[in-house]
Amino acid sequence: MEDPIGFLRYQRKEAGKQLVGVRVRHWHEYEQTMPDVQACVQARRCMDCGTPYCHSYCPVHNLIPDWNALVNDDDWHRAYEQLESTNNFPEFTGRICSAPCEQACTLSIRSRPVTIRSIELAIVERAWRSGWIKPRRNRQPLFRRVAIIGSGPAGLACAQQLVRAGYQVTVYEKADRIGGLLRYGIPDFRLEKAVLERRLAQLHAEGVRFRTGVHVGSDLDIDELRRTAHAVVLACGSEQPREMQVPGCSLGGVHLAMDYLRQQNRRVAGDFVSSESAINAAGKLVTVIGGGDTGSDCVGTAIRQGARQVTQIQYHKCPPAHVDNLLYWPGPVPKRCKSDHDEEGCKHIWAFDTTAIEGQSGHVCALLLQKLRWVRRADGCWEKYHLPGQLRRHPAQLVLLALGYAHTSHTGLVQQLSVGLDACGNIAAQDDDYKTSNKGVFCCGDARRGQSLVVWAIREGRQCARAVDCWLSGDSVLPQV
Ligand SMILES: Cc1cc2nc3c(=O)[nH]c(=O)nc-3n(C[C@H](O)[C@H](O)[C@H](O)COP(=O)(O)OP(=O)(O)OC[C@H]3O[C@@H](n4cnc5c(N)ncnc54)[C@H](O)[C@@H]3O)c2cc1C
Ligand code: SF4
Repeated sequence: MEDPIGFLRYQRKEAGKQLVGVRVRHWHEYEQTMPDVQACVQARRCMDCGTPYCHSYCPVHNLIPDWNALVNDDDWHRAYEQLESTNNFPEFTGRICSAPCEQACTLSIRSRPVTIRSIELAIVERAWRSGWIKPRRNRQPLFRRVAIIGSGPAGLACAQQLVRAGYQVTVYEKADRIGGLLRYGIPDFRLEKAVLERRLAQLHAEGVRFRTGVHVGSDLDIDELRRTAHAVVLACGSEQPREMQVPGCSLGGVHLAMDYLRQQNRRVAGDFVSSESAINAAGKLVTVIGGGDTGSDCVGTAIRQGARQVTQIQYHKCPPAHVDNLLYWPGPVPKRCKSDHDEEGCKHIWAFDTTAIEGQSGHVCALLLQKLRWVRRADGCWEKYHLPGQLRRHPAQLVLLALGYAHTSHTGLVQQLSVGLDACGNIAAQDDDYKTSNKGVFCCGDARRGQSLVVWAIREGRQCARAVDCWLSGDSVLPQV
């Protein structure tokens, strides 16, 4: 490294975000891409620490210290080559990854970590601007066909790897557009769809065929698909929402988070949404039940739609603001970090369970909440207890249920293929060969590992492509991760 004490010389400086008053008035991305000069300075904070935990905690094992050194040397082209050798879609992870690499950065023990995610984004955006990202065609086509079901990040990564290895790849998607949760889950203010389109054009030019509006197992018979494909990959996500079973769940104004987010993503894409089916937060008291990315995206969407007040209810207690990082490093540190939407006005109710939803004339008007106490059992697991004396009534006009996803859908495709399931209800397949119990059928992404992250979906798609290649050709030149 050019500057061995860069980590002492320079402070962490984030890429920057639009001011709250500006960003809540539109649907575009509000986080900026770090300028190249700033990325060079931030890359100098990398300590070149010898055992780079950031690299091992990144699910695709991005070569982080290597590209930090190259950015520091102003060698952006080689930095990009390093980055794309491990990650098919750094422009997605550079925008929305929860960055476990930064929690594992050695600098985070005593200081603030290197801005790894922002540097990743700066590298890939420089590559797009410079025209370095081009379709890669395989010169030795293999004439074997692979059908991939699902066009989320797992399906797309798998498709790109396999088409580059020479296979004829068709991706089937039941929705009208390609992208899975990148398209209809994550809102434009975090991931603009032009970013997705740009990458899809590359996949298309590389030879991946896309068939949208095809629900495999319902519009298209799985046996027919199996007759035309030499291997089938299930990348159909984890779509079964966790349900809340309390009185009042079927009242008007109570909706599943994904119904709400999908509709707003369609609106932003220019699709018509009828007034009868419209879910709109404008002028309302909105409550989001549940945390995580889905809950947070509901909050950000409701604020941008003009909600009067948005409250998020979570059943775990508020994490502490300060924690000794060393107790947890290099794993995630359970401390409270204010989210962007807190800045935008979201309020929180911690450690309360919803016991009933009250209605008036068939429409939600309030939630009944009960305080929880969390107690650690002898085996280290936490258990929750309701505190009967502590009830609370919380007024609400729109309630969004963001309780996560139980597993992949068990009807249709999964039923027809009779693939085995694991104890959680996900499709059973080992991560060394991605084979399901049905010969020639593979599975990757959230459908296999349960609801997870985009970076994990990319990793699984890449590894599954290699497994398919090994199965069909006896060996593979595709990378292991
Ligand atoms: C609201 C929300 C926000 C999120 N935010 C983040 C974030 O900020 N960062 C992050 O890392 N992760 C985030 N995630 C998680 C991330 O999006 C997922 O882990 C990832 O998309 C999983 O990829 P996948 O390819 O396995 O499945 P998906 O993206 O779910 O794609 C599966 C696709 O398969 C299609 N399909 C299913 N069955 C069939 C069938 N029978 N025939 C044809 N097509 C079918 C579906 O329509 C879907 O398009 C978020 C998730 C949600 C819901
Ligand atoms: S993909 Fe995620 S974990 Fe990996 S380097 Fe990028 S931000 Fe970090």
